[in-house]
Amino acid sequence: MIATEPLSDAIWEEIGLAERQTFSDWRHLIIYGQRTADGRLAFGGRGAPYHFGSRIKPEFDRDDKVHVELRKTLIELFPVLASAKFTHRWGGALGVSRDWFASVGHDRDRKLAWAGGYVGDGVGSANLAGRTLAELLTGQSTDLTRLPWVNHRSRSWEPEPFRWVGANVGLRTMSAADAEEERTGRSSRRARVFGRFIGH
Ligand SMILES: Cc1cc2nc3c(=O)[nH]c(=O)nc-3n(C[C@H](O)[C@H](O)[C@H](O)COP(=O)(O)OP(=O)(O)OC[C@H]3O[C@@H](n4cnc5c(N)ncnc54)[C@H](O)[C@@H]3O)c2cc1C
Repeated sequence: MIATEPLSDAIWEEIGLAERQTFSDWRHLIIYGQRTADGRLAFGGRGAPYHFGSRIKPEFDRDDKVHVELRKTLIELFPVLASAKFTHRWGGALGVSRDWFASVGHDRDRKLAWAGGYVGDGVGSANLAGRTLAELLTGQSTDLTRLPWVNHRSRSWEPEPFRWVGANVGLRTMSAADAEEERTGRSSRRARVFGRFIGH
């Protein structure tokens, strides 16, 4: 994610988003943005590499290349931002299960509870998962504990090095598919094929 300084009314006039709508488009390497309460434009997108063995480190969350690319994309969408200051940038790992199905659950025998696999959409789902976990742990049977994602089990991702190769090839394939679609104006075959391969 990146965020601009608070923008002037004149700039907002040109951009629009008067109701602070979120926006996205249909590119494969997902982007999304929103006007913040204090008048900045916060903008995010995929593109950071997957690290071998699903490693997570704080320094992976600030990838210069990704942030430069995000800024470039945002200025393409809103040229009026070319001279705006970008004051914040941050990132984080994306949790994706093999079938792209988030889950929350409690294994009483193993005394293990979990929630996750939100595929980047965790604000609402983490809240729902937290409330569901509370009910599961206290042994209740409610509308929440009967939802289909409760105790759903996804199979494991392929072992390394296949996972590393697959994830990073996928990233490149989706970027290349976006460039191809922009050039040709037609939907990319390689994106369709790769999407099927990862079960998306
Ligand atoms: C770059 C990025 C973009 C994202 N974009 C979206 C999006 O557009 N839409 C969406 O739905 N989701 C998005 N997510 C995912 C979403 O932010 C998370 O899934 C969600 O915030 C998880 O909520 P949580 O309450 O489990 O954890 P968090 O929101 O991380 O909250 C955990 C809190 O615990 C605190 N904490 C940690 N350790 C301790 C400790 N020892 N003592 C006290 N406090 C502690 C932390 O400071 C933090 O405030 C994004 C995530 C990232 C990183």
